[in-house]
Amino acid sequence: MPRIYADHNATTPLDPAVLDAMLPYLREHFGNASSVHAVGREARAAIDDARVRVAGLLGAQEGEIVFTGGGTEADNNAIFGVRAGHIITSSIEHHAVLHACQRRNDVTYLPVSRDCLVDPGDLRKAIRNDTVLVSIMSANNETGTIQPIKKLAGICRERGVPFHTDAVQSFGKQPVNVDEWGVDLLSISAHKFCGPKGAGVLYIRRGTKLDPLLFGGSHENDRRAGTENVAGIVGLAKAAELVTAKMPEEQCRLFGLCEKLAVGIAERVTGAHRNGHVRQRIGNTVNFSFSGCEEEGLLLGLDLEGVAASSGSACAVGSLEPSHVLKAMGLPHELARAAVRFSFGKSNTGEDVDLILDALVRVIERLRTFARA
Ligand code: PLP
Repeated sequence: MPRIYADHNATTPLDPAVLDAMLPYLREHFGNASSVHAVGREARAAIDDARVRVAGLLGAQEGEIVFTGGGTEADNNAIFGVRAGHIITSSIEHHAVLHACQRRNDVTYLPVSRDCLVDPGDLRKAIRNDTVLVSIMSANNETGTIQPIKKLAGICRERGVPFHTDAVQSFGKQPVNVDEWGVDLLSISAHKFCGPKGAGVLYIRRGTKLDPLLFGGSHENDRRAGTENVAGIVGLAKAAELVTAKMPEEQCRLFGLCEKLAVGIAERVTGAHRNGHVRQRIGNTVNFSFSGCEEEGLLLGLDLEGVAASSGSACAVGSLEPSHVLKAMGLPHELARAAVRFSFGKSNTGEDVDLILDALVRVIERLRTFARA
């Protein structure tokens, strides 16, 4: 039985070329980038080089790039690094933002429409004189819906409020440019674009006041203490270049796979509801609820059929709570608990979609038969 991996928003396989770029920094060039000797200087040079390349890809200055231990750390730094005051975010953020916000005192959670969009008018109304940060993700990990980031960031700039976007699901799937978007803070994570786990970036626009999250050394220009993950940083830069070079064609191809799946589901499955914006989305993600089914049954059934998919945020698996994203979109409880996200990537083909469809039809048929019995 073929195994089909359709969960690329959870994580992606490491690109072999990325591994090749990393290996020397795990073997012979193992130095600590803070050491003054030649072994340390090699590591420092690799980080400096990676910083310039990543800055170029984001349209940033190299001094604005802080390497982190991933997307969660970057998001937490943005939320906890601003001074005390009012924060605005959306109700569909990743838990890396939402759980951090829950530890702040004064937070407004903006609602979303049925197709998962934040209304810029709601943001305009929510900003107060004491608002110190707005954090709204650029693309949602469960539905793939793309937010009107330029508009949202523009409103914040007019009001002089720093704007952070969690671009973890955007980078490599849509053009990300900090000046075009007009953002002050932005998070990305390497393992979402065929780079290593545990490596990310927080972009901090020059002049933005932000305290570090970690203390204990002057690494990353005093913005993030801790010995640098040299191999991870080198891998992040390599993966970022590779994914950016192929992005337009690859996203178009993946968009086509999603639509092929959607057409197949419309033809062969009754009681299917598509979640999220149909067009304003990253190319690789499609999300459906199947009435009369439970997501645990759907995911386990698909897994037994050799298909790896997800119900949304990997971090929420194991909890019986329906997705907070689908609930915020106003889905009734039964449908919010019956959702499957397919997120395609490099390895997926049209044949995979045919096999997924056959598997899905069998699994849903079995679940509905059990439910009736
Ligand atoms: N933000 C979003 C939108 C994500 O999808 C994820 C991972 O699922 C994260 C943040 C967390 O990133 P990391 O796994 O690098 O900590």
